[in-house]
Amino acid sequence: MRPLTVIGNWKMNGSLASNADWVRIVCRGMEQGMPAGRKYAVCVPAPYLSQCGQLIQDCSLAFLSLGAQDVSAYAAGAYTGEVAASMLKELGCHYVIVGHSERRQHHHEADEQIAEKALQVLDNDMTPVICVGESADERNSGREVEIVRGQISRQIAVLQDRLADCLIAYEPIWAIGTGKVASAQMTQDMHRAIRLQLAEFDEDVASHVGILYGGSVKPDNAVELFAMPDIDGGLIGGASLNPQDFLAICQA
Ligand code: PEP
Repeated sequence: MRPLTVIGNWKMNGSLASNADWVRIVCRGMEQGMPAGRKYAVCVPAPYLSQCGQLIQDCSLAFLSLGAQDVSAYAAGAYTGEVAASMLKELGCHYVIVGHSERRQHHHEADEQIAEKALQVLDNDMTPVICVGESADERNSGREVEIVRGQISRQIAVLQDRLADCLIAYEPIWAIGTGKVASAQMTQDMHRAIRLQLAEFDEDVASHVGILYGGSVKPDNAVELFAMPDIDGGLIGGASLNPQDFLAICQA
């Protein structure tokens, strides 16, 4: 049975003061009681990992895990400005997002490099959240499944059965930060296609891998999305900045 997993992605937002308020509100809300058998995490900008890790640790009930938004594809060395997976592990991270569409777009990250990043995360006993998804043009020309299958097959080529320890986040680019949410059925159909592709590789991997949906998830659409059989949770951008909205999505 795959647990429902809800992961916030603050992107490049936050401040020392607002982070402290956010963690306090979310921890207090979670202490009131959360649905059993679920996992929750928040991926914060790298400079705030230490602060947020400490704040989360100080919560009396540790419901929430810490995550990072990116990682180097290399273990150590002359890579100025990069952050190694071992460093994220030392700071208490459990999850690392790799291949977010904003990194594919602004930093020209390719699937092979993303898979190398996922390997670094796995080698350091954390869970990579591998993002895939099509653009508006690709969907409008009916190529969405082909595009996502290509992204997944390049992950399979490198990760092989280690994919079983990853999460996949299906994030249609046209739905990220736009308020245009994919319908629950449209999302379920893509998640099903991903699950079937994984099963073509290995049935066991397909049944283990959690497939999250990301793209304008809000408290009012989360219930319908999370009720779908192949949607195992969400990667939440904009709505995760508001602690009350994040809590409501975690409870959906
Ligand atoms: C994201 O950044 O991963 C995301 C899904 O953003 P939003 O929820 O704002 O669409």
